[in-house]
Amino acid sequence: MNPVELILKKRNGYILTAEEINFFINSYLSGSITEYQMSAWLMAVYFQGMVPAEISALTKCYIDSGKHIEFPEGFVTADKHSTGGVGDKISLMLAPIAAALGLYVPMISGRGLGHTGGTLDKLEAIPGFNTQFSMEQFKDLTIKHQVALVGQSAELVPADKRIYALRDVTATVESPGLITASIMSKKIAEGTKHLVIDLKVGSGAFMPTIQRAKELAELLIQTGHDFGQKVTVVFTNMNAPLGTHIGNALEVIEAIDYLKGIYQPDTQLITETLVAEMLLSAEIVATKDEAIHKIREVVANGTALLKFKEIITAQGGDASVCDDYSRFDQAKHQVPIIAEHTGYVQSIDSRNIGYALIGVKAGRMAFTDAIDYGTGAILFPKVGDKVSQGDTLGTLFTNDLANSTAVLQRIVSSYKLSSEAVIKEDIIIGKMTIADISV
Ligand code: URA
Repeated sequence: MNPVELILKKRNGYILTAEEINFFINSYLSGSITEYQMSAWLMAVYFQGMVPAEISALTKCYIDSGKHIEFPEGFVTADKHSTGGVGDKISLMLAPIAAALGLYVPMISGRGLGHTGGTLDKLEAIPGFNTQFSMEQFKDLTIKHQVALVGQSAELVPADKRIYALRDVTATVESPGLITASIMSKKIAEGTKHLVIDLKVGSGAFMPTIQRAKELAELLIQTGHDFGQKVTVVFTNMNAPLGTHIGNALEVIEAIDYLKGIYQPDTQLITETLVAEMLLSAEIVATKDEAIHKIREVVANGTALLKFKEIITAQGGDASVCDDYSRFDQAKHQVPIIAEHTGYVQSIDSRNIGYALIGVKAGRMAFTDAIDYGTGAILFPKVGDKVSQGDTLGTLFTNDLANSTAVLQRIVSSYKLSSEAVIKEDIIIGKMTIADISV
């Protein structure tokens, strides 16, 4: 096969066969297709798209480029993927709750980049917590403790790792077909049979409109189906940071509070909805009400918190942080964030808040940037809340007072106020499963 012909074929809008996609990806991995040819092909895919059969073929190539896990018969595996949001610490509550309810949760997470945080960085805010394990160790941890929370090793879909890095620098990330193969290959290779995807919709999210989000959801569900995985997509509104805490140690603290029964309405709704969908998909419960009842029970009786402590210890971390938050890295300074005007919160620019907090090293602009685990912010107002000039909106946690004024201003400017009362938007917008699409 000739690489140029395959680039031309995609560029001109034709459908590639599985053999052609295999050839292209494997030749790239072995070095006989160059970076510039792969870049041209990715751009052709970006403009022409891919049909579901092409996406599944690409997903298979990615999976076959590394190792994949099969859990023994009888192990009911379920996981969640989120397309990312500011303050999104849901995995930290969801994983131990789901495990406490009998599911096996092999969760592979990523690092934060740009305005969104990453579950791995949050976990590493727990002193000693290790996220780097081989696929075999990851499988053993999951079998032994029902849940493992790790990073993508070199053995897991290495083709995706390489191509994702190239997409990042060739403006080809936002392609539904490429996104689908990238997400689904990891979630299939980790061995999970039931996958719930929290697909954020809105100005601060990957998918700006519900229409675009639904198109992506169909591809994710169809691809999972092709590999024997049941996928449920929950569309959630990304119109504000989730919960109150943003920053690595701060978000773990909010998650531990949750597991002690102290929760914010938005994190409670999203956590319960996503775990309920995992339990329904795995047929551990028959109704959503039954799921919610069980979820609240394992939080109220402390089983979910015990499970979280078990994971921390199993992965080398100091579980005593759950009872003594002073064991986390502490920011040197706490600065109040004060409202400059009076009004009802009409919108919150979460992306802007995420970027502002990179200024105190709670996040990073490049993968090589260091982060400070103890920094970040606690922010209380949500869309619809009334704030008055001089009110405390929250607290900034920083190690560097020199630039705190600029960071504070950027956070305060993220709240758009209205003189009229504002109606709160629904957080859960809808859901989609295989039953909603014709395969
Ligand atoms: N997350 C991934 O893992 N891959 C993408 O392509 C986009 C988001």
